[in-house]
Amino acid sequence: MRNRAYLREEKTAMERIEHKDGKCISGAAAPREVETDGRRDPETAPEAVQHPRQPMPEQPPQVRVGNFREVPFGLTPDLAILEATRCIQCKNPQCVKGCPVSVQIPEFIDLVAKGKFIEAARKIKETNALPAVCGRVCPQEEQCEMPCVLGKKGEPVAIGRLERFVADFERVTGNVEIQGSERRRASALPWSGRAPRG
Ligand code: SF4
Repeated sequence: MRNRAYLREEKTAMERIEHKDGKCISGAAAPREVETDGRRDPETAPEAVQHPRQPMPEQPPQVRVGNFREVPFGLTPDLAILEATRCIQCKNPQCVKGCPVSVQIPEFIDLVAKGKFIEAARKIKETNALPAVCGRVCPQEEQCEMPCVLGKKGEPVAIGRLERFVADFERVTGNVEIQGSERRRASALPWSGRAPRG
């Protein structure tokens, strides 16, 4: 139901950016080339924080009073890249310690910054099978975003919004892939011809 309700909005957002094989090939905010093996220390790279946390587009109040759709639309590809470039790729990422499932946050954000949205979704799914849900309902302000080093002097990286974005991008572009343990659980379901264990 929700998917159908949002098809138009998501299609419009995705049309703003060209992509091929899950990789952004155009957009107002140019993907950065991040040197992931040379992570920067926040104390020595304060210049990396050049723009504010990006707000998530949402239905205006006068519109949302007349429907039951989800209020936020989610980040657009351009906004996601812009937000991802705020991450300074900490050597000792506190955000990961705040995540209950240890999502490799700097790595997935790095991929978003490069416009590699599908790869970013895959990176999250290495430890979290439900990024679209967690990106919406997890209390990021008390978990991964609370210890984000950028929050000490300003606003933390919008990790939850980025997580939601890549999960939605994966789905809208038809690139959802069942991975690892999910695939094993699915193959054990009754209709797969095998009885579940345990
Ligand atoms: S999200 Fe915050 S804490 Fe995590 S690597 Fe980026 S800047 Fe550092």
